[in-house]
Amino acid sequence: MNIWLLSYLTHSFGNAIFMEAAESRGHQVTQINPDIYHLELSPLSQKLGFISKDGAQEYPDCVFTRMGSSAPPEGLHFLRRLENLGIPCVNTSSAIEKSRDKAYTMNVLSQENLPAPKTILLGLAASPEIAIDCIGDPPWILKMPVSTQGKGVMRIDSLASLRSVLDVWSNLDEPFLLQEYIAESRGKDIRVLVIGGKAAGAVQRRAQVREEFRSNVHLNGINEWINLKPELGELAERAAETLGLEVAGVDLLESKNGPLVCEVNSSPGLRMMTEAEKMDMGMKIVQYIEEKMANQNFDRHRQG
Ligand code: ADP
Ligand code: MG
Repeated sequence: MNIWLLSYLTHSFGNAIFMEAAESRGHQVTQINPDIYHLELSPLSQKLGFISKDGAQEYPDCVFTRMGSSAPPEGLHFLRRLENLGIPCVNTSSAIEKSRDKAYTMNVLSQENLPAPKTILLGLAASPEIAIDCIGDPPWILKMPVSTQGKGVMRIDSLASLRSVLDVWSNLDEPFLLQEYIAESRGKDIRVLVIGGKAAGAVQRRAQVREEFRSNVHLNGINEWINLKPELGELAERAAETLGLEVAGVDLLESKNGPLVCEVNSSPGLRMMTEAEKMDMGMKIVQYIEEKMANQNFDRHRQG
């Protein structure tokens, strides 16, 4: 197959192992960074699509996209064009859109009754007291809807702190999420990698710094291999399926009332999972794409 790897990253372990795995199975992979292309959007040029200074690209058989919340939204326009041309894409633009914005994610997950920390989207002119009615007493976790690596996530310890944050925040002109603080998780969460609807691996992530509640590896959190309990695997699989993600990194918090979905990533890092599980996750993704394409071709054959 001729596969496009749609990604903005230049040095990425995940991209490298995906390309290596795909090439070892005889596929041709081209990494496409949307930044160096332009898209023809006028009516007569529907089919011209992807053009760089070296000319138009020949379209691939399928696309694997590694774009998370740090990728600019323009990337999704490129992906939508490829989907409109009928090219199978893993993940799809609509699934990435749902997961790149934590408010959108929580909205979709709550509709399907998936367990998650109590969460509200607080408008800038909303009354801060409403937080106590909706999610209980502080501390609370404040999250910027589009953020990653723990950098838009903070703890608010009192109503007075929330009021002062709201004063500053109103200048940003952007609402934020307020969430109950799951104290029992104590700086730990569980990252489950889901590929093609199945939990393929899991690690527990733990903050190393005392008092730090965020377990992100980018904030020096450490990862440990765990034997994934079936109920956690099933919850992660349901979360990925609900958002329509074929490849997903699902973050779970263990609360006293059972596991909760914290966040879902559409472009999960593959290094820690590959090392923890001693299994090439790039290869697992390639095999999933091969299977998907074979089923699609089979269906097409049967239909006509
Ligand atoms: P990011 O996209 O920045 O990773 P997350 O929502 O995953 O944002 O939050 C970062 C980390 O903060 C999580 O991995 C978890 O360790 C911690 N965390 C997030 N939400 C909560 C919560 N409601 N209660 C306790 N810890 C939380
Ligand atoms: Mg996270």
